Amino acid sequence: MKVKVDFDLCESNALCEALAPEVFELDDDDYLVVKQEDVTDENRDNVERAVAACPRSAISIVEG
Ligand code: SF4
Repeated sequence: MKVKVDFDLCESNALCEALAPEVFELDDDDYLVVKQEDVTDENRDNVERAVAACPRSAISIVEG
């Protein structure tokens, strides 16, 4: 499973970074970077929290 972000929807409010900093990070220009695309046993809970919290529904977990 992989993390997928629709960057056209993302409004760079950093909520996902707050919940899963090992996966999401805003760069110096406030663009969201996915640091770790793989959903693992270790990051799954945090990624799912970020999916639920994103006000733009920009994050999804996809097969692959
Ligand atoms: S929570 Fe959603 S809108 Fe906010 S930075 Fe993350 S992906 Fe973008």
